Amino acid sequence: MKVTPSFPGDEIAFIEEFESGKNTYVDDGSIRSSTIGRKVYDLKRHIVRIEQKNTPKLPKIGDIIVGYIDMLFGSMISVRILYINDVKSISGFSAISSTRGISLPGGQGGWSRDRGDRRSRITFRVGDIIRGRVVSLLNSNIHITIAEKDFGVVYTLCYNCGGTTVRVNNAVKCVECGTYEERKLTSDYGKDTFSTIHNGKTLNGGK
Ligand SMILES: [Zn+2]
Repeated sequence: MKVTPSFPGDEIAFIEEFESGKNTYVDDGSIRSSTIGRKVYDLKRHIVRIEQKNTPKLPKIGDIIVGYIDMLFGSMISVRILYINDVKSISGFSAISSTRGISLPGGQGGWSRDRGDRRSRITFRVGDIIRGRVVSLLNSNIHITIAEKDFGVVYTLCYNCGGTTVRVNNAVKCVECGTYEERKLTSDYGKDTFSTIHNGKTLNGGK
């Protein structure tokens, strides 16, 4: 097999010689590349294809993703994916998660006392670092759940002053200004957890 680079539209073979494989198309007797990648001529099967080197890796169902909230809309959050199964992802994909029906561990605690019987909405904020599990890829959207105890907010900075936060029961507390806010936190919430993910030895291949 021979390997050389190609660009979209490049003529890479004639139909008399090869069949059109992955990432190629036939145009007036020529086989052309439809993408940037390496030309791969399979001389045994007479197929030419283009291999993309940096094809963004789409998460699969069951994968654990870590990212940050880039948008909030209604009872949904959008999470820009940074890591897939602890491996850095440069794909730029966002996942979405419903925040409906998510309860805080420990249940009937005093956190909803000021709202009477009404269920409080759990707060999420843009910039929160989220861990979740991919549950569906319906309609080309990456759907994650953050309901389980290992999922939710891994770390966040104080929304008031940008200070460092620590976990206090089901809430984050700013060590700078004391602001306190109940959140859906992972069981291992904290700066160290995010640092571990961020500096993990599996990430060396990334930028
Ligand atoms: Zn603060």
